[in-house]
Amino acid sequence: MSGAAAAAPPGNSLDCPSTDVLMSYQFEFRPYHRRFQQPVHTHYGEWQVRDGLILKLTDEDGRSGFGEVAPLPWFGSETFEQALDFCEQLPGQLSDHAVPSLLPTLPACQFGLESVFGSLERKLRPIHLPNAQCSVLLPRGEAALECWQPLWQQGHRVFKCKIGVGPIATEMDWLDRLLGQLPLGAKLRLDANGGLNELAARQWLDWCDRNGQRIEFLEQPLPPNDFDTLMRLNYRYHTPIALDESIASLEQLKAHFHRGWDGVYIIKAAIMGSPQRLQHFYHKYPIDLVISSVFETAVGRQALIRLAIDLAMAYPDIPHRALGLGTQQWFTNAGLSQ
Ligand code: MG
Repeated sequence: MSGAAAAAPPGNSLDCPSTDVLMSYQFEFRPYHRRFQQPVHTHYGEWQVRDGLILKLTDEDGRSGFGEVAPLPWFGSETFEQALDFCEQLPGQLSDHAVPSLLPTLPACQFGLESVFGSLERKLRPIHLPNAQCSVLLPRGEAALECWQPLWQQGHRVFKCKIGVGPIATEMDWLDRLLGQLPLGAKLRLDANGGLNELAARQWLDWCDRNGQRIEFLEQPLPPNDFDTLMRLNYRYHTPIALDESIASLEQLKAHFHRGWDGVYIIKAAIMGSPQRLQHFYHKYPIDLVISSVFETAVGRQALIRLAIDLAMAYPDIPHRALGLGTQQWFTNAGLSQ
């Protein structure tokens, strides 16, 4: 094997079940460029096109499995170009005894490859996720007031809004109006993408606490390097704080857990590397988590739903939060293109 795969350290290969018979798989991949219906505005700026790769494995009996590589470089994953380079260096035939070893710097590729083998092994039909179990991202500002109603009618009960982009007073004004419109059963998640300072975070947490149980959590109010303040704020306020940017990799997730974080964990599993390693960690430490989207296609979404079900089945008696996978309406159905 050549290139990135050959440069990987030994012992870092994916954990595939061993079989007595060496199976051979045809490996194919296809890049995609998927334009948002309207750009996603976050603290990082404007995002217009989602670039990723669809992976396909076909076994000797002609059965196929699919996986997705959906990088998010501003979250610390590889870039689309690095993922494309890696896939171009993979051989056209893979065996389950020669699954490529991956560098930790290619977490989205690792997730995609492990998923594609998993999807082939399980031979399962697509799983439908009820909207009630899935939070949905609203556009910012006035547009949110016009958007929530059809989503509510489709069964969504948890809505998510990005904050920390405009002036606090303006954002609180449209969120107050949104809360005034939302039925009592609705919950709101706020996401600042690490874009607040401590004073602004306190203003937002005061606002959240004033709105009581209607705010499910405030996501990443401060940058990842401000962990001690995040800990203090999580202790001080009733509204839970969720970490997202702070835990972009499995190593960071473990580090924050062992430093004592007992708030919510947002898990962008598609850029966290091996889903099996994530499962092992969760089986040992059942943290309060939300499996969350990085704007994958239906292929990556299926892998995330299966992962969420596996995690939930490990601890069926504890309540599980709605998944953060309500992003499909941000794309046109015909949005896939090469
Ligand atoms: Mg977030």
